Amino acid sequence: MSTSTQPEKHTFQAEVQQLLDIVINSLYTDREIFVRELVSNASDALEKLRHIQLTEKEVFDDRLPLEINISTDDKANTITIQDFGVGMTHDEVVQNLGTIAHSGSKAFLQALKESGAKGENLIGQFGVGFYSAFMAARRVRVYTRSWRKEETGWCWTSEGAGSYELEAVEGQRRGCKIVVELKDDCREFAGADRVREILRRYSSFVQFPINLNGDKVNTVQALWLRNKKEITDEEYTEFYKFAANAYDEPRYRLHFSADAPIAINSLLFVPRDNPERLGFGRVDPGVALYCRKILIDHHPKGLLPEWLRFLKGVVDSEDLPLNISRESMQDSALVQKLNRLLTKRFLKFLEEEADKRPDGYAEFFDRFGFFLKEGAATDFTHREQLTKLLRFESNLTEAGQGTRLNDYISRMKDGQEEIYYLSGPSRDAIERGPYLEAFKARNLEVLYLYEPVDEFVMNNLHEFEGKKFASADQADLKLGDKPATAQGEALAEDETRDLCRWMRDVLGERVADVNPGERLVESPALVLNADKMMTPTMRRMMQAMNQEFDDAVKVNLEINPRHGLIRKIASLRRADEDLAKLVAEQIFDNALISAGLLEDPRGIVERVYRLLEAATEKGAAAAGNAAAPPPPSSAETGKEG
Ligand code: ADP
Ligand code: MG
Repeated sequence: MSTSTQPEKHTFQAEVQQLLDIVINSLYTDREIFVRELVSNASDALEKLRHIQLTEKEVFDDRLPLEINISTDDKANTITIQDFGVGMTHDEVVQNLGTIAHSGSKAFLQALKESGAKGENLIGQFGVGFYSAFMAARRVRVYTRSWRKEETGWCWTSEGAGSYELEAVEGQRRGCKIVVELKDDCREFAGADRVREILRRYSSFVQFPINLNGDKVNTVQALWLRNKKEITDEEYTEFYKFAANAYDEPRYRLHFSADAPIAINSLLFVPRDNPERLGFGRVDPGVALYCRKILIDHHPKGLLPEWLRFLKGVVDSEDLPLNISRESMQDSALVQKLNRLLTKRFLKFLEEEADKRPDGYAEFFDRFGFFLKEGAATDFTHREQLTKLLRFESNLTEAGQGTRLNDYISRMKDGQEEIYYLSGPSRDAIERGPYLEAFKARNLEVLYLYEPVDEFVMNNLHEFEGKKFASADQADLKLGDKPATAQGEALAEDETRDLCRWMRDVLGERVADVNPGERLVESPALVLNADKMMTPTMRRMMQAMNQEFDDAVKVNLEINPRHGLIRKIASLRRADEDLAKLVAEQIFDNALISAGLLEDPRGIVERVYRLLEAATEKGAAAAGNAAAPPPPSSAETGKEG
């Protein structure tokens, strides 16, 4: 700790300065939210203090009331927000008010970088924490004194431009006092009426008394302990915004209480959008844990499974020991019980929603399905319930409509043993690919998987209701009956065998095997995965993660002995083997292209020129033959004219 009496000068971390520049120079709307951010910090500091009082003996200024005092001064043009919370030591000030520790601010910067959007549009979604004070401030002073006995007081001062000063101060009480010296065009925030209105809007659920110029403005209440029937939608929404520090409206809410096996009161929310999908990285668990209205942990790990990290809200259990430490929480048998109870209840809630309001559920699944998939793949305890909540499009659904796996099962054909799926970036891409036709011709349903995680889920689930999942581009599928629409004479069996052997020689290393297939209807050939695990999607994922990854794909070529081209190449092989080789290679490359597996297209152009040359030579020869003998009859010339 520093003992100097001269102010220390510090520069802001580069990211903070970047954030401050945006906050100061381009955020002119929604300026009022800085009040909410500062009050929310005060409330956090008081929650922490309350918890420390329960677990530590020695707390400085132990008698101070746990409350927030706000005062406005329209002559000095200031607003001051004071709390008797935990306060900060010298080093904590440097860490907290000079770098970006706050996940919201980080997310904000990230969103700004990625979307290229204006800060104004984003501030409404994130809030930027403490630094938002500079939306309205010329200068901010933070007087603070930690709860630790041996500490002293500090004053942090900044105008938001590049640096801040830190000076030791005497006689400071515990907590934080933030004096916001307002810009001229922000005088409104020095007016009591305006500030009262803001507090009503954003801070009515703060769990500590808030006084404005000496008058109490909120009624402290724990909404989750009240009777459901007496709570309005507006109250719930406001509570969500308060508890999740959110600016949107919740998509779902579940207010749930039980006495046995554990006393529990919980209020859970699903936000409108999934921040991870918007590209902000992994979110922290968002359901806070309380014991008899006292906050134990804002972001408790272990209270809910990882894959429920998108939930927001509050869980309160009287049965928890108040002094439970955050470190030991995950191991607590009680917390594990809470976890199971809450998870089961929430999944049941989703089942009900899916039944009663399928459209709303479809929208939820579109945004949050990722988490359920993660759960289905990794959480054995809840796998069954989760799998039933999954939705996939298929060749039998409309675009945008997902089917339940149970419904797929009920539509399965007699004797069908597997649940088929195909991966691809979109419905269109899958339907244009070569694999679906064999299934369509047999009236078999194929699920469409659009996201890399889907294939991961299938590999982990392995089966559903006793039916195995199987990728439709796998080499060893038995599809049963020949397709009804198979057209034309097929090549004789021994001739087909010969042709396959010859093609295997021609293609050499590039192919694992060449076989005749029953599945093809319209196409001459397709490639199939020889390696079950390393599917094209997996491979793309591996490549994205590791640039060096360049193992060749192991594919089988399956040819269609009924297709005209395949029948002709069998005879061309004897008449002009060089040309037949070119055709065989091109067929293989075309199949790779259809499967999205062609990695080096360089050979193709040259080969196609050679094929075109052969085709035009033959055409020219035919034309020459036709021209040389007897001149065209008058009837023919007539036709041409
Ligand atoms: P967040 O509240 O999400 O952590 P902020 O930018 O709002 O992010 O605040 C940054 C940090 O500064 C807080 O995490 C806290 O450690 C510290 N801080 C801010 N205000 C106070 C306060 N009134 N009392 C104690 N610490 C505070
Ligand atoms: Mg904050």
